[in-house]
Amino acid sequence: MPELPEVETVKAGLAPVMEGQVIAQADVNRPDLRWPFPDRMAERLTGKRILRLRRRSKYVLADLDSAETLLIHLGMSGRMLISGHTVGDFHHPHPAPAKHDHVVLHMRSGTRITFNDARRFGAMDLMQTAQQDDHWLIRDLGPEPLGNHFDETYLVAQLKNRNTPIKSALLDQRILSGLGNIYVCEVLYRAGIHPKRKAGQISAKRVAAMVPIIRDVLTEAIAAGGSSLRDYRQADGELGYFQHGFQVYDRAGENCLTPECKKKITRIVQSGRSSFFCSQCQR
Ligand SMILES: [Zn+2]
Repeated sequence: MPELPEVETVKAGLAPVMEGQVIAQADVNRPDLRWPFPDRMAERLTGKRILRLRRRSKYVLADLDSAETLLIHLGMSGRMLISGHTVGDFHHPHPAPAKHDHVVLHMRSGTRITFNDARRFGAMDLMQTAQQDDHWLIRDLGPEPLGNHFDETYLVAQLKNRNTPIKSALLDQRILSGLGNIYVCEVLYRAGIHPKRKAGQISAKRVAAMVPIIRDVLTEAIAAGGSSLRDYRQADGELGYFQHGFQVYDRAGENCLTPECKKKITRIVQSGRSSFFCSQCQR
């Protein structure tokens, strides 16, 4: 699943070809992805100018000049393909229509943006921009980890007396929105906290120390996505998922990267998801 940094990277890749641009034609090639598309989606997109792109949690939001907002969720396997666009010296010719090209936006500029999703866990929806906070995918989300509403006081209060493992608490999108399995593993490793430790049993001081770590882990991943973005766009015009070098995620059996630590990274399963950690460094 894409997490906050990957969605931020996709947004950054789409912004130059979507912001300020008019959708001349929208092809909607099936009635649904994970959920049904909204009524008359093609008609509601056609002729509309995209004012700006934003990100909320794991969703890209495109505000239209019709006072509606298009929500885009890439799901497990969704990809955005940009074609006909010149990036510096690079030009990506329009590809032949492919299987799983579910939505195609033909921009008046000549650029084409294709949403391809083989597994169809992605989603698109339209909402009134003014009512976006009430959208069913958005209304119960906690604050953005890089936003002003997330700080030490908030996290300490949220985790106090909580009897769930810290791993589950940080994955709970009602507490904090946008963190997923990969970055929670990275945060807990840097914080030296065992993923099974009960959230309410961690001292306020250690909980508070996680806040800058969460911000750092995400900010570094966004920066890495930005640099890989150029390479990917130049290579084939495709925006999808970028795998960065992780310190602990997916490193089971490999050496812990903490200097002097001789342990190997351990993998366990918690609530059906893999947790990677160092049993020496994380307590
Ligand atoms: Zn270690």
